[in-house]
Amino acid sequence: MEDLMRLAMALAAENALKHGEARVQPVLGKILAVDPGLKGRVRELLPIVREAVERVNSMDPGELESLASLAPARGRGEGGGERRWPPLEGVGPQGTVVTRVAPEPNGHPTLGHVKGLMVPFVYARMYRGRFLLRFEDTNPRVERLEFYDAIREEFSIVLEAAERRLGLSPGRWDEEIIESDHLGEMYSHAERLISDGNAYVCTCPAERVRRNRSAGVACPHRDQPPEVNLELWDRMLEGGFAEGEAHLRLKTSMTHPNLTMRDPGIFRIVDHPHPIQGDRYRVYPTYDFAVSVMDALTGVTHAFRSKEFEPHVEVQRTILKMLGFRQFEMIQFGRITVEGLPLSKRHIRPLVSAGILWGWDDPRIPTLRGLRRRGIAPEALVALMYDLGPSKVDSTVTMDAIASYNRKWLDPRVPRYMFVADPVRAEIHGAPGDLTAEVRVHPDRPEMGVRRIRVPARAGVVEVYVSWSDHRRLRRGQEVRLRGLVNAEVRGVTPDGLTLRYLPGVRTDVPIIHWAPVEGATPAVVLAPKSAYSYESFGGFGEPAMSELREGDLVQLVRFGFARVDGREGATVKLIRSHG
Ligand SMILES: [Zn+2]
Repeated sequence: MEDLMRLAMALAAENALKHGEARVQPVLGKILAVDPGLKGRVRELLPIVREAVERVNSMDPGELESLASLAPARGRGEGGGERRWPPLEGVGPQGTVVTRVAPEPNGHPTLGHVKGLMVPFVYARMYRGRFLLRFEDTNPRVERLEFYDAIREEFSIVLEAAERRLGLSPGRWDEEIIESDHLGEMYSHAERLISDGNAYVCTCPAERVRRNRSAGVACPHRDQPPEVNLELWDRMLEGGFAEGEAHLRLKTSMTHPNLTMRDPGIFRIVDHPHPIQGDRYRVYPTYDFAVSVMDALTGVTHAFRSKEFEPHVEVQRTILKMLGFRQFEMIQFGRITVEGLPLSKRHIRPLVSAGILWGWDDPRIPTLRGLRRRGIAPEALVALMYDLGPSKVDSTVTMDAIASYNRKWLDPRVPRYMFVADPVRAEIHGAPGDLTAEVRVHPDRPEMGVRRIRVPARAGVVEVYVSWSDHRRLRRGQEVRLRGLVNAEVRGVTPDGLTLRYLPGVRTDVPIIHWAPVEGATPAVVLAPKSAYSYESFGGFGEPAMSELREGDLVQLVRFGFARVDGREGATVKLIRSHG
């Protein structure tokens, strides 16, 4: 009830600022938009809204503004309309929400990471809270410096797109935290656990620990007094044990029904230089310790994590309690997979090292770099993730769905060019002179301009390329229109060519085909990804203006699909086909 009153007041204040006075119906409508689950409780809601509206209408503008700032910000879904995610539980009276994304710098981010990034980001912005980027770098053997930068770069691109596409502002993280910078602090919390008798150093071999944990049997180290544990802990820190010889374990219960809770390891020795800290440390916390202590130290109020960590919640809550830290919300969400494409490093790495993939930015795989190289706009990805919502259910995204979001974003924005795949020469006879085609850069956006393509006539004959797929469908006597250029009648079809007869005037109720002039055409190769292992390659000619395209340009090839310019080789433009 109190939460509802707070929400009603905030939305009423927003309404009042906009219209001079708050009114019951619009405020009620907004509440239901924020939380559609309340639709069955309108009768109960109404008196709350009435009271909120009445109170708000007697406030001065200053009060209204600070109250309205507590209203959840609302992003825009694919339809452009306001769409709302379910409200968070446990939002404090000041409305201060602090969330974080905590990637491990051990690889290139994939589409799977976008949900982990978007869920806490959207909520932080919805509640006008703070959003942290925290590098979870306490596993030095698999972490590398280049991945910190890769994550920063990819996450920035996604968040900036979220601001542009969804209006969630500002589209960046508010603070960056490097977990390994806090190792000293984590050590002192570990020492507190030891002194309080809540943790002990166990020197059992890993195999015995595993057996004991599943059998629910304690080892002799469990009963060592804190002084002994502190000494052993110091020895761990000082290098008196080799990797694997000693662990710091939390003292909970060896017979707990949740196996994860049976005296879990919280610190272990990793004898490997750290990408940032070098050889300064050799004892590193496990995930459970690091995540709970760092969330507590950095003021996180709502910690989102992928749901496979659910059994760990209890361990983390126990650590927080033993250290006297405040508790906060821990929220799980489901994972994203892409149908038919590998997302995990485990699957992608062998393809990269075998040379089947060009690298981590291969357009056939859904790493964020790969998707970008394929021409998938980050705006499309954030819109897709926003519409998927913070669901706890695992979801499978198809390449078709990604394509559909991307098409909607690119279609009104990118220039169009004619590209003729598998070109066949066509002669147009009877032209009155040189021809000039006028094609709009974008048919619905005159402001993007018009391109003129001159096609010279030699003794009344004009030569162009048309694609094999059009060529094989044309029949003698048929009329066609060469887009933007001329109408013509098909006079002859041979296996390697086409003879056309010039027709005066413009008729567009006949098949319209695209073409490229023989003189001045731009050679182009388009690669169309098919799976993680293969792609289809199309060679042909594009219109002359395609020679000005630069790497990274996004275009639509008429009747062929969307594509991104990947580079060039001599005069040949290389493109990647994003999708149809
Ligand atoms: Zn032991």
